Amino acid sequence: MEVQRIMLRIDYLEFWATKHCNLNCKGCSSCSPIQEEWYLNSETIKKDLNRLKTLQIMIDNINILGGEPLLHPHIDNLFCIVKQAFPNCNLGLLTNGLLLRNMGNDFWKSCVKNKVTLKITCFPVFSGQDIEAIVHLLEQRGVKYHLTRKVRFNKILMENNPSKIDEIIKACGCNHAYNLYNGYVSRCTVPMITEKFNSKFGTQLITEGKLNIYDATAEKILDFLSKPNNSCLNCSAHPQKVVWEKSEKNPSKEDWLIG
Ligand code: SF4
Ligand code: SF4
Repeated sequence: MEVQRIMLRIDYLEFWATKHCNLNCKGCSSCSPIQEEWYLNSETIKKDLNRLKTLQIMIDNINILGGEPLLHPHIDNLFCIVKQAFPNCNLGLLTNGLLLRNMGNDFWKSCVKNKVTLKITCFPVFSGQDIEAIVHLLEQRGVKYHLTRKVRFNKILMENNPSKIDEIIKACGCNHAYNLYNGYVSRCTVPMITEKFNSKFGTQLITEGKLNIYDATAEKILDFLSKPNNSCLNCSAHPQKVVWEKSEKNPSKEDWLIG
């Protein structure tokens, strides 16, 4: 019995609360600069999380991300939904922090009640003073937080990729943060953005790499997530480091693609 419980475990699971963002970085892994305004439906995520729970899959860490998740009008309720399904998970919110100073009491109360860790990526739009003010606010509100400064991005996508799969997997930096979106899971955000990317730019990225959680057993889901698949052929074995920049009004495919 104990062996089975260890097997049916996901370390990290992420889901989008929004796809759009208020910062729009070039090369964003959620493709926010080309996404329409989109908000996660509470009933959909409740149903999807309950499906995983019914399958007796344990989840250690759940991160809510975007786009910018603080744009979601019911973000405080999303915290409760996650904790109702998985009360013992470590719940995190990945945010660029720009809206933190505008958040109301309900948000802060829900963060404390649901033991949410705010994982804030500080991009170069923040001055040192901005960061100090945010830290002061977080301390005042008594929430757990983690701040990271980010000045570079990794470009990873490539069409007609010459890299071999074992080299690609060696270079993969997605840290097994699996993605859940609309009844499907994937190993990362790449399979969740390729259709949008192709339709926007007329590219031929491989659109495989998602599994319907309503058609699969727990074992099949975990087996699927544990192995590379054809979607990985969208990623170069030689990611390019690029300096962080805001996206232009009309983003180009080169903001994401190598070569
Ligand atoms: S802040 Fe994050 S979600 Fe928003 S565009 Fe930048 S990388 Fe994407
Ligand atoms: S598609 Fe595969 S190689 Fe690319 S980031 Fe995701 S898991 Fe890694």
